[in-house]
Amino acid sequence: MKALVFYEHGGLDQLRYADLPEPVVGPHEALVQVKAVALNHLDLWVRAGIPGLKLALPHIGGSDVAGVVAAAGEEVDQAWVGRRVVINPALSCGRCEFCLAGEQCLCVRFKILGEHTPGGMAEYVVAPATNLYAIPDDFPFTEAATVPLPFQTAWRALIGQARLRAGERVLILGAGGGVATAAIQIAKLAGAYVYAVTSTADKEQRARQLGADETINYRQTDFAKEIWQRTNKRGVDVVLENVGPATWKGSLRALRKGGRLVTYGATTGRFAETDLNLLFWNQPSLIGSTMATYAEFAEVMSLVFSRKLRAVVDRVLPLSEGAEAQRILEAGEQFGKIVLEP
Ligand code: ZN
Repeated sequence: MKALVFYEHGGLDQLRYADLPEPVVGPHEALVQVKAVALNHLDLWVRAGIPGLKLALPHIGGSDVAGVVAAAGEEVDQAWVGRRVVINPALSCGRCEFCLAGEQCLCVRFKILGEHTPGGMAEYVVAPATNLYAIPDDFPFTEAATVPLPFQTAWRALIGQARLRAGERVLILGAGGGVATAAIQIAKLAGAYVYAVTSTADKEQRARQLGADETINYRQTDFAKEIWQRTNKRGVDVVLENVGPATWKGSLRALRKGGRLVTYGATTGRFAETDLNLLFWNQPSLIGSTMATYAEFAEVMSLVFSRKLRAVVDRVLPLSEGAEAQRILEAGEQFGKIVLEP
């Protein structure tokens, strides 16, 4: 089968569009014919190499897949074969204390499809049957592929972890990203007032079209000061962070006393300074969030596939142009998701 692979970690020039053997289906797994696969920043980190993450090479990336079930293992309900699905990329062991308690994303052996295992940037991919989620017949694969990772991440971070409530004010950073575009919509659906921070006038306008009440261009102004002024020196109830050191101090300053900062990423580095005086005096909660439980996943998928939340597709390219797609993502030229079709 055709696949976008790398044989060594490194830059875009390590990506090859090559022929690899089709994956073998285990008894509890399904073989999915990939119709569309969406990019995430994770794909760039995995290609470059994540400290401590040892992969079997060559590696196929791609965590967000939509397709048709082509075959199912012997222990799997054969009714899945031929169905249109997305794959939940959150892979848990199913038997540790967290899995048994329904908190699969706290699994001690937690993995992500396309990060720790071969992903969907190929004609076929294998996944546990428990991770299949059926989608409506009229829902385009190119839109469906953009949904699993970003929407579950945004849902758990805002709803599951930060407990965002109607009437609260939330600040969302990096508003062009996949999780942030999901988060703007989820926050509005929850009845919150949304400030979105982004880098260009065009992205500000698109964030408002998704429901953001106000936008801030971080290249023109200090977003924390701006929030301070716009909220009459109160601050917001919740900040959704994924930037890290470049914004961390500002994110803490933008919070009201007793506010909640929830982070799901660290795109500008792993270590950020926290003013401990501010921490004890203002009493904020610092909360981490990764992916979601199966229950949270199903909850947010049903909202997307009944069209209460909207997938945002930036562009669709053939899988053979995967390197160009990753270049666009690396340069931050997109708004919403870049999708590849095998
Ligand atoms: Zn587990």
